[in-house]
Amino acid sequence: MSESTTHTFQAEVRQLLDIVINSLYTDREIFLRELVSNASDAQEKMRHLQQTERNVFQGEAALEIAITTDEEAKTITIADRGLGMTHEELVTNLGTIAHSGTKAFLQSLESGASAAGNVIGKFGVGFYSVFMVADKVDVFTRSWQPDGTGLKWSSDGKGGYTIEEAEDQDRGTRIVIHLKGDQQGFAEKWKAQELLKRYSNFVPFPILLNGERTNTVEALWLKNRNEITDEQYNEFYKFIAHAWDEPRYRLHFNADAPLAINSLLFVPQDNPEPWGMGQTEPGVALYCRRVLIDPHPKGLLPDWLRFLRGVIDSDDLPLNISRETMQDSALIQKLGDVITKRFLKFLDSEAKDNAEKYSGFYAQFSRFIKEGAITDHKHREALAKLLRFESSMTEEGNLTGLDEYVTRMKEEQKDIYYLQAPSRASIESGPYLEAFKARGLEVIYFTEPVDEYVLSSLNEYSEKKLVSADSSDLDLPDAPDAESKESLSDSEAEEFSTWMKDTLGDAVEKVAPSKRLVDSPVAALVPEGQRMGPQLRAMMKTMKQDAPAMKVELAINPKHPLIIKLARARHSREDAAKLIAGQLLDTALLSAGLVEDPRSVVSRLNKVLELALEK
Ligand code: ADP
Ligand code: MG
Repeated sequence: MSESTTHTFQAEVRQLLDIVINSLYTDREIFLRELVSNASDAQEKMRHLQQTERNVFQGEAALEIAITTDEEAKTITIADRGLGMTHEELVTNLGTIAHSGTKAFLQSLESGASAAGNVIGKFGVGFYSVFMVADKVDVFTRSWQPDGTGLKWSSDGKGGYTIEEAEDQDRGTRIVIHLKGDQQGFAEKWKAQELLKRYSNFVPFPILLNGERTNTVEALWLKNRNEITDEQYNEFYKFIAHAWDEPRYRLHFNADAPLAINSLLFVPQDNPEPWGMGQTEPGVALYCRRVLIDPHPKGLLPDWLRFLRGVIDSDDLPLNISRETMQDSALIQKLGDVITKRFLKFLDSEAKDNAEKYSGFYAQFSRFIKEGAITDHKHREALAKLLRFESSMTEEGNLTGLDEYVTRMKEEQKDIYYLQAPSRASIESGPYLEAFKARGLEVIYFTEPVDEYVLSSLNEYSEKKLVSADSSDLDLPDAPDAESKESLSDSEAEEFSTWMKDTLGDAVEKVAPSKRLVDSPVAALVPEGQRMGPQLRAMMKTMKQDAPAMKVELAINPKHPLIIKLARARHSREDAAKLIAGQLLDTALLSAGLVEDPRSVVSRLNKVLELALEK
């Protein structure tokens, strides 16, 4: 009595099938993920039904997904014990696309097949993706309803399908995929194994492959935090990150609003880019309800977070074509943004609660934090909060942060002061620090080349300007006068400055007496607008561009013995005085790190030495 009915696919389905089969070669393997997800969904629905329905066909059957490969028959079969389908359901679910998002999706595919190649893995085209690998598909199914019948749906994925009755069907759905000639690799057990591990490892039902359980790791990110031990977390980290170490930090975080997010993030022990060359792929995988969407999603988290490992799972992501299309990348951005903010907050509180642990992290990962401070405008302030550095008020080797700096600021102090040089020692022996020390003002030491870039994008923190301590635009309060030393008078100092300017000519913008100096005779000050450090200059050079010429202002110290003597010598020994004036400028430029070719200084220095030996 079994009669077969023949149906044609709805026009849109035909169109979709055509695109799926002909244009989307790259991601064929996702068919298995899609069918396993459908099987899982069907069992999930069954689980719900069982709470209300008493009369369920084969109500006692265990909910599991059985996959069988058969190399000889060239088939792979996926069987579930879900709710099955009636005749009518087969027609509506597998023969039509009834959802509004579909048209838009089709249009987006037509606009470019190459874009579509990426699209498919992310959106899923659900059931139809099976026709990428199959030249014939048989769906055997039996609905949970007690009066249902066993049915067989068959199609070659071209024009239509047939439905006929099939006897002795268990409740659920069994899909037999007859693989195309060039796709028979999917009938090999190891291949199926690999795909199940990659995409379907966390499906919440047992998956059996040829009778053996394949998914043994729990989707830890969906569990309650207080039901998970440290060992379980660490094991999970090793599993998903393919790692051997123990994570430094972990952040297990769940939210319902503004998006439904379950995420579990890990910071590894070590920097994955120890030599700073080549970027690693993003390491936080994107899941939608336990099913992998993308193991290395680009554009989800900002680049500088590529050292993170873990999982982000969001119910709000449309995995399949029947849900809204994911063209809407605003959603992905929002997701990334929420998680980035949460992670930054986490790091900040970790840094406060356990500074020592944080400095261990910082030693490995500061490059990423700095990269973020340079490139990620949206999170710049939060990243700046995480920066650590030495300063004039820390012991050598100890680190402090901007928040701590701010709490130590003097009452009348408006700006945050810093100096940038290759080392603590070179900052402390230079001419700039003394003025700040004398006034009890803290100066941050930036000593890494990359800091130059950080500083050029970070102009302020907590509404306070970051100002270089060698800046000419600084207006420092008077220093509490030390013992009154011998000094040039104000008018002598002015006259001397004019002479220096005449002597040095165009090499300096201006020469002026300054109260900033204590132990140094002179210092080169840099007008803020012209600031450009050695890194940026070198970079411009490699790009064959001339760095703009920089003219410093020279500050002179009217209390310094050398200046006092020079002021006198300019009358008695003019040539020698001029030579020394030039040398003072060179020395000041050297201290400021502004001499690009140190050899240029040598010949004058030799003359000065000669002079020293004359009587
Ligand atoms: P989606 O899963 O996004 O709804 P699919 O194309 O993957 O889209 O599947 C279409 C529909 O077919 C499903 O919504 C479901 O109703 C039905 N279906 C597919 N596979 C099964 C299955 N194994 N058991 C029961 N119903 C299924
Ligand atoms: Mg589906």
